[in-house]
Amino acid sequence: MRLSKGIVTAAAAAAMVLGLTACTDSSAPAVDVETPADFAEGSTMAKLADAGEITIGTKFDQPLFGLADPDGVPQGFDAEMGKLIAAKLGIQPEKINWVETVSANREPFIQNGQVDLVIATYTINDARKEVVSFAGPYYQAGQDLLVLEGNPEGISSVDDLMGKKVCTVSGSTSEKNIAPYVAAATDVIATDTYSNCLEPLRSGAVAAVTTDNVILAGLADQNEGEFEVVNEPFTEEPYGIGLALDDTDFREFVNDTLQDAEDDGTWDELWEKTAGKVLPTPTPPSIDRY
Ligand code: GLU
Repeated sequence: MRLSKGIVTAAAAAAMVLGLTACTDSSAPAVDVETPADFAEGSTMAKLADAGEITIGTKFDQPLFGLADPDGVPQGFDAEMGKLIAAKLGIQPEKINWVETVSANREPFIQNGQVDLVIATYTINDARKEVVSFAGPYYQAGQDLLVLEGNPEGISSVDDLMGKKVCTVSGSTSEKNIAPYVAAATDVIATDTYSNCLEPLRSGAVAAVTTDNVILAGLADQNEGEFEVVNEPFTEEPYGIGLALDDTDFREFVNDTLQDAEDDGTWDELWEKTAGKVLPTPTPPSIDRY
């Protein structure tokens, strides 16, 4: 089922303003929920395990990584990463409080304690590391372009954007990275979610949408026959799991969880049941324990 754009936008806006959360469905967990280890007293892990619930920020409108289903529960690889970490804390998937985070509010939501984790196609970079900490990376994407099916404007790489308009999202690395490739700052139309860029692309108000290749691939797959990815990535976007600055024990716990999943095949399994339905299965990147 697809909701009309107006409904999706209104729901997203309401969720952002009110901080609404959605509880997960009762479908079988992807990974076994464990009896939690004896976590150090006072640690974030102990607090979450004792509470029996966790709040995770993710995207709600990005197919393959985080797309809210008709019950409002996000589905995709990012959502699976969240369930994996919750399971290691002994938390059932239906005890995850999912909060929609758009690109611009990921750092503030972590800083304000509105979420325990952000798993939201979230690139690890030095500027963000000044205000939040990252576990991972658990995937490496690259920025690319989405154009109309058949590529009527003949855009074969980012260098062909000069003099054209492009849509992206405020607060994203995509917005920063595209700046050198446009003639004027006003050629970049920045909105709050990538799905909001699709109508301007359909209408010809912009020649392309730019962000990570896997987000664009999900949008192309969701709108079959309408769009295509140029497939000339021009950046590296290592996806991390955002958490409170300098919560080193929690970061190490999440890193250990990711490493175990990469080593025992769980990572592949979770990829294949989500993003892997459309994208090839890559080798996961090495964890950066900075
Ligand atoms: N991965 C990039 C970022 O974190 C672009 C995708 C997004 O906005 O979620 O900014």
